[in-house]
Amino acid sequence: MKKCNSKDYDVLIDFIRNIYGFDKYIPLHEPSFDGNELKYIKDCIDSTYVSSVGKYVDKFESLFADYVGSKYAIATVNGTAALHVALRLVGIDNNSDVITQPLSFVATSNAIRYCGAQPIYVDVSRNTLGMCPDSLYSYLKTKTFFQDGFTYSKLSNRRIGAVLPMHTFGHPCAVDELLEICDKFNLPLIEDSAESIGSLYKSKHTGTFGKFGTFSFNGNKTITTGGGGMIITNNYDLAKKAKHITTTSKVKDPYRFIHDEVGYNYRLPNINSALGCAQIENLQKKIRKKRALAKSYKNILSTTNFSFFNEPKKAKSNFWLNTLILSSKNERDSFLKITNEKGIMTRPAWTLNNKLEMFKECECHNLDNSNWLEDRLVNIPSSV
Ligand SMILES: *Cc1c(COP(=O)(O)O)cnc(C)c1O
Repeated sequence: MKKCNSKDYDVLIDFIRNIYGFDKYIPLHEPSFDGNELKYIKDCIDSTYVSSVGKYVDKFESLFADYVGSKYAIATVNGTAALHVALRLVGIDNNSDVITQPLSFVATSNAIRYCGAQPIYVDVSRNTLGMCPDSLYSYLKTKTFFQDGFTYSKLSNRRIGAVLPMHTFGHPCAVDELLEICDKFNLPLIEDSAESIGSLYKSKHTGTFGKFGTFSFNGNKTITTGGGGMIITNNYDLAKKAKHITTTSKVKDPYRFIHDEVGYNYRLPNINSALGCAQIENLQKKIRKKRALAKSYKNILSTTNFSFFNEPKKAKSNFWLNTLILSSKNERDSFLKITNEKGIMTRPAWTLNNKLEMFKECECHNLDNSNWLEDRLVNIPSSV
């Protein structure tokens, strides 16, 4: 990575202004509504079924399952809730540890903590920005022991209950390699696919490799339901349980209120699902545009010293947020200052989760790549 000069900045800023407009503030990722959104929402309001029951919930779930190619999909109030439930359903509790990556939005670590469990952080790969199979393997090989069919952390003596990688900025991680390692150590894999809807790895949708995949439809994601999330799985019993505990664990009964365990009010309302149905109809079009934008960024930046992060091998990314890797932390800081002062929103990487106050005591493997990326990575405007 080379240091950038002022001409490089001019090229980048001119390019962004030409696409998104002059004389206005340019956000990182704006939602776009160019389909049946109003029609479906009006229909929803006219029917009075705006809340926890209605046809759009079922419709959105079935459209989603068809789109990604999973057997079942369960809509939730947000992506964090989807993660929480997926972790609960593979048995994560306050005697568990969960292996995840530090380079992620805080929701990944929070959901682990909601179950009373502790995150263990392994490194990410510089090629994918997602969990590194070598790091996972070396952690499991040297820092755990195997007893009665389960894997335990030597440090905490707690059972490791799951491995939770994330497909960073929409780029698929090497999920097949992770899965192979998980199988060796009898660990369920859950994919935090919040950012990677529509991204393919070896022609298969992210989220469909693990026992569960989870998604987010927050306002800044590729498609939005205002707030919302989705759990996918191919396992009928797990899908049934997911539906049950996200709907207060209410037992079917003509009029009595019977709940058979502590459940959650995590169901996605019908009105948000209506928005989701309209958004998913245009998802492929949005992804085409996002991939075209990424290609243009890549072409234009190849004439500069900026290093554009391209999709990993064997992957077809949705390019949720386009990413540059700068030459140093100093360069990163001046980049953020220059672009934001010019009304172009750019952002650094998240603070590594293991450095946040709530998680700073958690077990960490070597995190060289995560630390390196944290200092150099920036996201640039990526709206559809
Ligand atoms: C957006 C996101 C989530 C879920 O976010 P919600 O706002 O709860 O929908 C989880 N993990 C990652 C990595 C995300 O980017």
